[in-house]
Amino acid sequence: MTVGAIGLDLVRHNLEAVRLRLAAACARSGRDPASVRVVAVTKGFPAEVAMAAVRAGLRDLGENYVQEAREKVRALPEATWHLVGHLQRNKAREAVRLFPWVHSLDSESLAEELDRRAEQHDRVLQVLVQVNVAGEAQKHGVPPEEAIRLAQAVLRLRRLRLRGLMTIAPLTPDPEGVRWVFRTLRTLRDDLAHRLGAPLPELSMGMTDDFEVAVEEGATLVRLGRALFGERPTG
Ligand SMILES: *Cc1c(COP(=O)(O)O)cnc(C)c1O
Repeated sequence: MTVGAIGLDLVRHNLEAVRLRLAAACARSGRDPASVRVVAVTKGFPAEVAMAAVRAGLRDLGENYVQEAREKVRALPEATWHLVGHLQRNKAREAVRLFPWVHSLDSESLAEELDRRAEQHDRVLQVLVQVNVAGEAQKHGVPPEEAIRLAQAVLRLRRLRLRGLMTIAPLTPDPEGVRWVFRTLRTLRDDLAHRLGAPLPELSMGMTDDFEVAVEEGATLVRLGRALFGERPTG
């Protein structure tokens, strides 16, 4: 991955292409492009790439791991950082300090620990409940039928703001094959919002291979890595 000026040009070019594809997906589904935010996922890329993303105009950056995020967050405190990967309870304290948004909330015990740490650090955390819609054994997230219990628990915690739901679709060569996953998450969100009397405006769904379908199904946060930065360096 090239960095510096060339990296910036590449990110600008890729972002422009992403914005056109987002606008087309919004036009197809009668949505306002302003209702979709790009979270630039910088996992696996050096801090220079995250800097290029911010210089290209991206405000929301995402990371999978607390440890990997540390240096990048320090370099770019002006960005809004989103934790999109699985979080272990013993990393909750540092996560609260680095990330104002957590997309991967998947248990009551983690919610309670985040609340406790947020209280200690006088923070408020925006959270999404991660749902394992397709029931894949290797993926994190609660089964759809358990989402309401976790959501209710989160609503009782003073330092957490429940903003909506997140999912990761199964890998597929054809994004049409996972449209049902995004549609299911949206339907679940509508149902929970109604039953809980909470707005739950955010749907974090869609990655490089499937984000247009996710937007057609109502995504408000798309998490993009390779579409913006190219293939992740290995190792
Ligand atoms: C890596 C990752 C992304 C970005 O994936 P791309 O396919 O590079 O767009 C988004 N969300 C999560 C949870 C990820 O782990």
